[in-house]
Amino acid sequence: PISMRRIEKRFGSVAVLRDLNLDVEAGEFLTLLGPSGSGKTTLLMILAGFVRANAGSIRVGDDEIITTPPHKRNIGMVFQNYALFPHMNVFHNIAFPLKQRGVAAAETAERVEKALDLVKLQGLGERRVDQLSGGQRQRVALARAIVFEPRIVLMDEPLSALDKGLREHMQIELRSLHRRLGMTTVYVTHDQREAITMSDRIAVMNGGRIEQLDKPETLYATPQTRFVAGFIGESN
Ligand code: ATP
Repeated sequence: PISMRRIEKRFGSVAVLRDLNLDVEAGEFLTLLGPSGSGKTTLLMILAGFVRANAGSIRVGDDEIITTPPHKRNIGMVFQNYALFPHMNVFHNIAFPLKQRGVAAAETAERVEKALDLVKLQGLGERRVDQLSGGQRQRVALARAIVFEPRIVLMDEPLSALDKGLREHMQIELRSLHRRLGMTTVYVTHDQREAITMSDRIAVMNGGRIEQLDKPETLYATPQTRFVAGFIGESN
């Protein structure tokens, strides 16, 4: 489980996250849902370790990780633009986190193969990333995030670059992958419908705060603020 407490983040004089608390249960699929600028990406980056909070604590189980560097957090991340290495082939992109962690070559080959299987890219290891379709790149990013079998996976709008049909297909695949692997997932989207179909629970963000954190059906039935009612209502 993840426990974030009293997280504060300012960029210059602008407060982006304000006294934010968030608990994520082990194994759940939790979505941060909110309008552009509400602080979703910043919160995810703080959890991943790429952005440092001005104050607050992050515990994973019993460990305080707020000062732990990203590659030592055992957290996989899928970035919004995928952040793949375009000049490298699929294999080396996916193997990157294993290399960072000093995993031996034979085990790396085995694990990359398994990850390719899981995201249905069998046989594409030698292909250069700049010769892949958008959907295939998305799968490479996903494979790279899960190849070291992290307990936590973070995804920042991973499907936003895909067309509607592919997006809906990938929503189902992501859910099924989550069910099979059981990793704790924090997912970011501004798409209400996507959040509702995919999530165990949804944290609705507005202006750097979490307005309500509940199961999708509870958010619908009993929104606790005017903002939540309006924002969730837009998906109708
Ligand atoms: P989106 O859906 O558009 O990605 P978001 O909810 O993820 O939005 P953030 O990207 O976390 O929101 O941004 C929250 C606020 O922080 C915005 O007002 C943004 O302009 C500001 N911000 C984010 N990163 C920086 C930065 N590096 N320097 C200054 N301001 C920043």
